[in-house]
Amino acid sequence: MKKVECAVLAFLLTAGVVQAQIRHEIEIPDLKGYQTLKCDFHIHTVFSDGTVWPTVRVDEAYQEGLDAISLTEHIEYRPHQQDIRASHNRSFEIAEEAARRKNILLIRGSEITRSMPPGHANALFLTDADSLDRPDYRDAFEAAKRQNAFIFWNHPGWDAQQPDTTLWWDEHTELLEKGCMHGIEVFNVNYSPEAHQWCLDKKLTMLGNSDIHQPIQSNIHQQLQTGRTHRPMTLVFARERSVEGIREALLARRTAVYFDDTLVGEAVYLHELFENSLEIEEVERTEKKVTLQVFNHSDLIFHLKKTAHDPRLIYFREYTLWPHGLHTITIYLDGGISSGRMEFEVTNLWIAPNQALKYVYEI
Ligand SMILES: [Zn+2]
Ligand SMILES: [Zn+2]
Repeated sequence: MKKVECAVLAFLLTAGVVQAQIRHEIEIPDLKGYQTLKCDFHIHTVFSDGTVWPTVRVDEAYQEGLDAISLTEHIEYRPHQQDIRASHNRSFEIAEEAARRKNILLIRGSEITRSMPPGHANALFLTDADSLDRPDYRDAFEAAKRQNAFIFWNHPGWDAQQPDTTLWWDEHTELLEKGCMHGIEVFNVNYSPEAHQWCLDKKLTMLGNSDIHQPIQSNIHQQLQTGRTHRPMTLVFARERSVEGIREALLARRTAVYFDDTLVGEAVYLHELFENSLEIEEVERTEKKVTLQVFNHSDLIFHLKKTAHDPRLIYFREYTLWPHGLHTITIYLDGGISSGRMEFEVTNLWIAPNQALKYVYEI
């Protein structure tokens, strides 16, 4: 190696910039007028009860193809405080520069951590997390509200706080009426049908987050997804890829929750996500049959199941559209018909508890 190259390498090594990181983009289509941003709004570091340093969370988010994260340290629970004494703003401040370098949108947040009711809540878009450190939970929520925070109820079905049934308390009604609750986690470790229904009934934003404490790669839930590794996340349909764009979309309830193979959200968004993931082409037509080629160019999987339909149209009972798969689907025409409606539901797109997205394709 030449002397100059040696010197450059030595400089790079000491500067700590010889780092190779691969970003695995998550391919989920945009919606008309909106970018689909992949976000995790519930993450811990050593500044509360997590086990990693804040910049590591940025690296993980970059590797996993996320657009935005929030480090939501517990205000009231800091088991490492003998070793780490700091402002509640500190984990954000430490991660800020790393996030800027990696083009990850970092949102200043905190977890208000109280017994039930009202339980735990995350406040996003804070300007000063320290002001949430108040003895009465109402004062903490009010402090967040004064900063125009977006506040959501975390893991309402957490069995440590609601061991038998997932209840909505009077305290939640009070928070909602005071403008201190804008959304609920529909997924956090588990899917909560109660949270899903409350979001629909009370017009609240649906969120799904990892609530990760350990290094993300050792997340057992993620590892169990054989070969399909993505953390639980909130898809945000934003006008622009910015912190302000995310805030506007969250307040307008333009989200979907993505966990395992499942998407949870309002029918209008899931319908468009499904449609925009697929390219459908009619490649053959005779009197007896129509052949379609369906290309799923997204990372999403779609499980289709036939619903009530015209029996003269004969097609699959169940069918799976694999990610990035090219599928040939044949529909047989009976009784002399030349057109009709293929009717099915997409069983892993949930528009309400126990209710899948219905879809019609006309041939
Ligand atoms: Zn919590
Ligand atoms: Zn948490």
